[in-house]
Amino acid sequence: MSWHSGLRAKILFDEPLSKHTTLRVGPKARLWIEPYDVKALRSALRQAQTNKKGYLVIGFGSKLLIKKKKIPLAIHLGSANFKRCVARGTDIIAGAGVALPKLISTAYEHNLGGLEFLAGIPATVGGAVMLNAGVSWPKRIELGSFVSGLEVMDRNGKVISLGRQDLAFGYRSSNLKDYIILGVKFSLGKRKKRVIKSRMQRFRDYRLKTQGSRLHSAGCIFKNPGAESSGRLIDLCGLKGRRIGDALISDKHANFIVNQGKASAADILALMRLTQEEVKKRFKVNLEPEIEVI
Ligand SMILES: Cc1cc2nc3c(=O)[nH]c(=O)nc-3n(C[C@H](O)[C@H](O)[C@H](O)COP(=O)(O)OP(=O)(O)OC[C@H]3O[C@@H](n4cnc5c(N)ncnc54)[C@H](O)[C@@H]3O)c2cc1C
Repeated sequence: MSWHSGLRAKILFDEPLSKHTTLRVGPKARLWIEPYDVKALRSALRQAQTNKKGYLVIGFGSKLLIKKKKIPLAIHLGSANFKRCVARGTDIIAGAGVALPKLISTAYEHNLGGLEFLAGIPATVGGAVMLNAGVSWPKRIELGSFVSGLEVMDRNGKVISLGRQDLAFGYRSSNLKDYIILGVKFSLGKRKKRVIKSRMQRFRDYRLKTQGSRLHSAGCIFKNPGAESSGRLIDLCGLKGRRIGDALISDKHANFIVNQGKASAADILALMRLTQEEVKKRFKVNLEPEIEVI
């Protein structure tokens, strides 16, 4: 009998990860596991350790480019236990699998403001906190600054509570890489519904205007170098519309690569390299990937 028979989880075999990444690229996962609870997650992690197999946690897959040929185990916290989202006073407690639209609508219903900048970001709470999702318009705002507590699981399956003092967030990064995020406490402020609604709309409008069609991309491909915008530099190199295979530099937002159909990880990586070379040649600036290449 295999180790996963009897595991309290949804289990899929040879699941195409292209279905679970917004770039629509990826190999098959030998096992795709959605544990129903913390105990099942712990069993899956311990088994991965015993078998000396790595695992990949996937949220919405909106920052991932998977170039590996095989993924033995993909873990997704998509079951009801990881999708609870409740308000308590001015805090919101959200499971790692909660989608950002649910998080911001819960905040809105309870007159809690601060997270409006997340409107239009296709992500889960776990992925967005791990990568400290944020915006730089009209000023820099990042999700990490609203996190006041976390529940995580370490690689040995131990559940640990982390407080604000344990956390460090940087530009699209956090010090949580060694953990699986289970749930997050966000501390927000009271705000009128009318104001929250109009702020969310402003962020949505801005995205629509600057990003256009958002299909099959992974958001910004490169981090901004300091105060400069990567998109502006790429645009000045005349690279909008440049294509390798089905991978295309968006003609709306030069820092977005779009999969127009059957782009492979190799196509996207080649387009990224070409972009880095052109920007380096013209501006002597090294562009650092913002997407996670695995
Ligand atoms: C159209 C579009 C617009 C975007 N706009 C923005 C934007 O304005 N700002 C911004 O910051 N990003 C933006 N993004 C990128 C992306 O949505 C964010 O980076 C988001 O935080 C990724 O969340 P995810 O759930 O998809 O994580 P994934 O892509 O699934 O995973 C990202 C990383 O987090 C890890 N991870 C995921 N869940 C967990 C967990 N529970 N525990 C531990 N590790 C976990 C994964 O292993 C991986 O390392 C955009 C993407 C798209 C497609």
